Amino acid sequence: MARPVIAIVGRPNVGKSTIFNRIIGDRLAIVEDKPGITRDRIYGTGEWNGRSFSVIDTGGIEIDGEDGLLRSVRMQAELAIEEADVIIFMVDAKAGVTNADEEVAQMLFRSQKPIVLGVNKVDNLGRMDDIYEFYSLGFGDPVPMSGAHGQGVGDLLDAAVNKLPVKEEQEYNDDIIKVALIGRPNVGKSSLVNAILGEERVIVSNIAGTTRDAIDTPFEKDGQKYVLIDTAGMRKRGKVYETTEKYSVMRAMQAIERADVVLVVINGEEGIIEQDKHIAGYAHENGKAAIFVVNKWDVVEKHDKTMQHFTNTIRDHFLFMTYAPVVFLSALTKHRLTKLFPVIDRVAEQHALRVPTNVLNDIISDAVAINPPPTDKGRRLRINYVTQVAVKPPTLLIFVNDPELMHFSYERYLENKIRAAFEFEGTPLRLFTRKKS
Ligand code: GDP
Ligand code: GDP
Repeated sequence: MARPVIAIVGRPNVGKSTIFNRIIGDRLAIVEDKPGITRDRIYGTGEWNGRSFSVIDTGGIEIDGEDGLLRSVRMQAELAIEEADVIIFMVDAKAGVTNADEEVAQMLFRSQKPIVLGVNKVDNLGRMDDIYEFYSLGFGDPVPMSGAHGQGVGDLLDAAVNKLPVKEEQEYNDDIIKVALIGRPNVGKSSLVNAILGEERVIVSNIAGTTRDAIDTPFEKDGQKYVLIDTAGMRKRGKVYETTEKYSVMRAMQAIERADVVLVVINGEEGIIEQDKHIAGYAHENGKAAIFVVNKWDVVEKHDKTMQHFTNTIRDHFLFMTYAPVVFLSALTKHRLTKLFPVIDRVAEQHALRVPTNVLNDIISDAVAINPPPTDKGRRLRINYVTQVAVKPPTLLIFVNDPELMHFSYERYLENKIRAAFEFEGTPLRLFTRKKS
């Protein structure tokens, strides 16, 4: 299920990114190696009152020059109106109502989207005097808060989550493999979609329904049913996407959330850039099966080790996704296109794999016997047993004497042993350590 979207808008410096970080808490991307660049992170997930949602910080759109401020906030509002189910409109109690606030208010008002007005920097929540003037913006009761201290953020989320719609989504049977294609602009996503759907043995059913975020194409091939969740053409729609490429990532997010298998399309001609990593990281974080598809292989100059070299490069860049297989092809010439579907089928199966508890425990016992857990301040981790509690992705609970004693490196070791036995090709694994009660 794709999560509903909450967007935060407001002029610079009102505290959008402070609130954004509070909402997403510690669910930060593990793929970001550069600390401190909060503006790079504009998309996160949050949960409140049992609802989970995506949050967009639109503050990343900044335009310099004359009128830069007004143009930035206009564009932010435009993006939020386009993407969000609920908009949090942030203003600054210390600054009062400004022209830019009024400008945003008008745009939001016309959009008829549900709006929650948050008044930030009310450092003394007892002093309501500061917020009365914001009634003039016309969005009802403002929610006072202090992002700096975290006060009032709960009230803000209460109000926002209350306005989230109950989404009606196209639901598919479990035996249908849902495939999303993601990748930065021009890597060849549309071409690949066309190549796949144009294949002789592919039977495309009439397009069952388009969601707001992606276009679904159900089809059948060699007796297996699939749905292609396509985001490719989307960025061509609005000017926001042309000017701010990183926001096209949001479209990819919506597709990823609904997919089983994510094809991370890479331009073989250009190699890998930072943006590819961000995009792939979302598949990993969301627990989806993933395949690296190196496209435009027709124009790559090749020798007998080119594939191996490219694979090594991928492994170096995507350290957290060593499980994902790599397929080389050309969407243009359709060369090697037949290699793709067997891999999709395989990783989809592995993503949904359930392993027998007894075999799993035998493997863990062997692993512990070969390489016992190190001691920590004189205490040693003891593993009681392991059990798989979920699929898509496979999720394992490890019951131990004290979860604090499970170190990252040992968990990694166990994961490697589990993969050596069951492979779990193409799928992330989730391991959780619990105290045996
Ligand atoms: P953005 O540009 O809207 O994303 O704003 P930021 O989140 O970057 O915050 C702008 C400045 O306001 C930073 O210096 C924050 O530390 C500060 N700030 C954020 N929340 C509060 C608050 O509740 N009270 C006060 N006094 N300052 C805050
Ligand atoms: P998208 O933005 O990711 O959907 O990329 P497109 O499918 O629109 O492709 C971008 C450009 O790359 C177009 O000019 C395509 O013709 C070209 N292209 C796509 N796939 C291939 C390929 O396999 N080989 C070559 N040489 N060009 C390709």
